[in-house]
Amino acid sequence: MPEIDKLYWIDTHCHLDFDVFATDRAAVIARALAQNVRRQITISTRISHYAQLQALAEAWPSVFFTVGTHPCNAHEEAEQAVNIEQLLALSRHPKLVGFGEAGLDYHYSRETEAAQKRSLSLHIAAARQTQLPLIIHSRDADEDMVEILRGESAKGRFPFILHCFSSGKKLAQTGLELGGYISFSGIVTFKNADIVREAAAATPKNRLLLETDAPYLAPVPYRGQSNEPAFVVKTAEFLAEFLNMEKSALAQQTTENAYAIFKKMQPA
Ligand SMILES: [Zn+2]
Ligand SMILES: [Zn+2]
Repeated sequence: MPEIDKLYWIDTHCHLDFDVFATDRAAVIARALAQNVRRQITISTRISHYAQLQALAEAWPSVFFTVGTHPCNAHEEAEQAVNIEQLLALSRHPKLVGFGEAGLDYHYSRETEAAQKRSLSLHIAAARQTQLPLIIHSRDADEDMVEILRGESAKGRFPFILHCFSSGKKLAQTGLELGGYISFSGIVTFKNADIVREAAAATPKNRLLLETDAPYLAPVPYRGQSNEPAFVVKTAEFLAEFLNMEKSALAQQTTENAYAIFKKMQPA
């Protein structure tokens, strides 16, 4: 654990490999560092993009990465040659800090439910075996996700994060009960997101994480623009006020939490 000074932030979930960053990636990372967003975890959406993510992590000291398949890509990837040995081998890179994002997305991809479930269980097995955290994406799939988390945790605990939380109370409670962390994105700043704010208020402070999910979901006042890791500070400022916390206390707590769950992430 590093000596954490007052305003030290971590963007625990962004997608720096996406094309939208192709021309100004260096500037995006520089702006994050200028806001004291000292770590950016770039999250995999396709195992086949591993080399690009690895290259980013090797090029920038502040960037760490994961390996995994987004549920909306599961039918194209996990069905192929991906297996547990492969995931475990890929996870040995020193800057690889977790698995995912994997999960269930019934909003966009209900028709591939079976492939999503198979892919999710593969990622869970890898997280269980390595005790590296799994970043879970869950959209419009609360009931199935609750059932899977309970069933899989009963077979053996694995660390996990419910990322970009926008689900219901029962999934939040189940996740917390099973030792998970809950990560909040710019959605908490949106006018119509009372349910997400309630979830943030109900999450114990030592399980709370911050993320951008950049380039998606820019927080107010950047809503509608392309998001980037520096903007995690806007979400944090909003949340600190909403939770009636000092900004510095939220920075310290969420940074400690990020290092606690992302055990392999070297401190800045
Ligand atoms: Zn996601
Ligand atoms: Zn994402």
